[in-house]
Amino acid sequence: MTFLTPKAQALTPYTAGIQPKEPGWVKLNTNENPYPPSSKAAEAIRGANLDALRLYPDSDSNILCEVIAGRYGVALENVFCGNGSDEVLALAYQAFFAERDNILTPDISYAFYPVWAQMYGVTAKIIPLKEDFSIDPGEYVNSNGVILANPNAPTSRALTLAQVETIVRNNPHAVVLIDEAYIDFAGVASAVSLVPKYENLLVVQTFSKSYSLAGLRVGFAVGSRALVDGLQKIKHSFNSYPLGMLEQKAATAAMLDTDYWNETRQKVKATRDKTIGALRELGYAVQDSHTNFILMKAKDEGHAKGLYEHLLAHKILARYWQKPRISEFLRVSVGTDEEMEAFLQCVKQF
Ligand SMILES: *Cc1c(COP(=O)(O)O)cnc(C)c1O
Repeated sequence: MTFLTPKAQALTPYTAGIQPKEPGWVKLNTNENPYPPSSKAAEAIRGANLDALRLYPDSDSNILCEVIAGRYGVALENVFCGNGSDEVLALAYQAFFAERDNILTPDISYAFYPVWAQMYGVTAKIIPLKEDFSIDPGEYVNSNGVILANPNAPTSRALTLAQVETIVRNNPHAVVLIDEAYIDFAGVASAVSLVPKYENLLVVQTFSKSYSLAGLRVGFAVGSRALVDGLQKIKHSFNSYPLGMLEQKAATAAMLDTDYWNETRQKVKATRDKTIGALRELGYAVQDSHTNFILMKAKDEGHAKGLYEHLLAHKILARYWQKPRISEFLRVSVGTDEEMEAFLQCVKQF
C-alpha cells in the first residue's frame, strides 16, 4: 500500500551531502564556509525583540531586500528573498519553466536542477559540457529558458560576464537564470550588473556560502520587475512568509559587515589556491577554481572512490559521485588551513 500520488512515487529526490551527527569530522563535503558568520549577525539575533515573534514577519523581507538593492545598485522592486536559494530556484522553476520544453542546462551541474525539472514537468534539453568541462555560450540559443550555475558546480569553472550576456541576448523571449551561489569566490563579475539592461535575466545568490550562513537558510534573486513579480505570485501561492524575523535581521547585518565578508572570502581563496598548488605537486590534475571547492581528477581508474573511502576512514568527508563523466573526480570544499593540511597529509598517505 502506498499513500503517494503517482507523481510523488516517480520522483527521484536530491541527495544532500552527509551531515555527521557526532563531532570530530573534517567536513569538506557540502561547500559550507569554514569560518563563523559575522559577529554582527549573532548580535542582531541576540538583540532582537523576541516578544515580536508572536507576529508574522514582514512577508517581503524589506529590510534585507533594501540592503541587497543598495549593494548591487538596483531598485527594491528588483529584489526577491527566499528560504535559501534552493527555494528561490524552485519558485523560479514554477514561475518560468514549469510544463515547458527546450529548457537548456548543462549535463554536469547542480544536481537539484533535474529534480525540479521532474517535479515541475520541465522538459530539459541537456547540453554536454566540453571535454575540459567548459561551457560554449554559442550552444545556448533560441530556447524557452536557460538555467546555468555560474561558476558551475561541481566543475568550479566560470563564464565571463560577456559570455553570460551573449546567452541572455541569444534567448530574448526566455528567462535566463544564472545561479551565482559561488560568485563571491570567482574571478569573474556577477551578472547582476546586467539586470537593468535585460528583462529576461534572473540572478540568484545565497547567504549559505560566502556569508557562512548555511544554517540560516537565506537566498535571493535580482531581476527585472516582471520576473520579481512572477516570483512573488508563486510565493504567495505557496508560502507567504518564507523568512522569519530573525533570519531577516541576521542576514541584513551579515551583508552590511563587508569588511568581515571580504576578509573571510580572501582567506578561503588563499587557502584554495595553496591547496590546488599542493595537489598539483602531488601529481593531481586540478583546474583553477572559481568557487570555495576544488574538483580534483583521480590518477587512474578506481582511484577517486578509493581516495574518498581512505579520507572517510580518517574522518575527512569529501564528495564523490558514481556518475558518468565525474566518477573519476573528487570534490573537496575549502576548509581552514589546518583542515586542508590534514586533508593533504591523508592524500599523501594514500
Ligand atoms: C549551495 C548551492 C545552492 C543552494 O544554496 P542554499 O541557499 O543553501 O539553498 C544553490 N545552487 C548551487 C549551485 C549551490 O551550490
